[in-house]
Amino acid sequence: MNHKKIRYLAEMGVEAFWYKNSRHLSRFEENNNSKLDDVKREIDNCERCDLSENRGSIVFGSGDEKSRVMIIGEAPGKDEDASGEPFVGRAGKLLDEILFAMGLSRKEVYITNTVKCRPPSNRNPNDDEILSCSDFLDKQIDSIKPSIIILLGKVAANRMLGINESMAFFRKKVFDFGNTKIPLFVFYHPAYLLRSPSQKKNLWDDINFIKGYLRKNGGSLN
Ligand code: SF4
Repeated sequence: MNHKKIRYLAEMGVEAFWYKNSRHLSRFEENNNSKLDDVKREIDNCERCDLSENRGSIVFGSGDEKSRVMIIGEAPGKDEDASGEPFVGRAGKLLDEILFAMGLSRKEVYITNTVKCRPPSNRNPNDDEILSCSDFLDKQIDSIKPSIIILLGKVAANRMLGINESMAFFRKKVFDFGNTKIPLFVFYHPAYLLRSPSQKKNLWDDINFIKGYLRKNGGSLN
């Protein structure tokens, strides 16, 4: 048993027995999605907004392309821009730990961002940039057809839901994603949790909230 993971789970109030009983699925490993491949081709060399000017790479998304769980962050950072992969570096490692606490692995979810190119100096993407990129995100969601969407952080939540609220408003609520009516939940952004580790206990409440919602509606995370 990995001690670092046990310590992290303990900080969130998760007992070791839950860890032992978490399931690890491999059936999604080779799960390609040709509709998503069309979106990848469409986004290639995109210059729809100014973020194209300074990017190193377009960070399209990664994971199970037919996953039931889609995770949407805000924007690529420096590490993501360099690697072309979403959520790498310290925030990415923490996201892996959060997924683990949910009984999931990175291979079993699909991870992307509201914009696919890094904003200069890691500033928040502005409304125009998010709007310019929203067509790609909508097509990703339409291709993957997730059962639930989890937004990371209030910036992504406010922009995706078209409101201006704090995390206290978003936590432990179910929203509908646009016309699709896909249930949407909001978690703390891993980068915020790195700065505010005392909030990890609240995160476990949020995970249990999703599980409770799915149980009531005959679903599960995996
Ligand atoms: S952020 Fe999106 S819309 Fe803007 S250049 Fe990158 S891929 Fe195109």
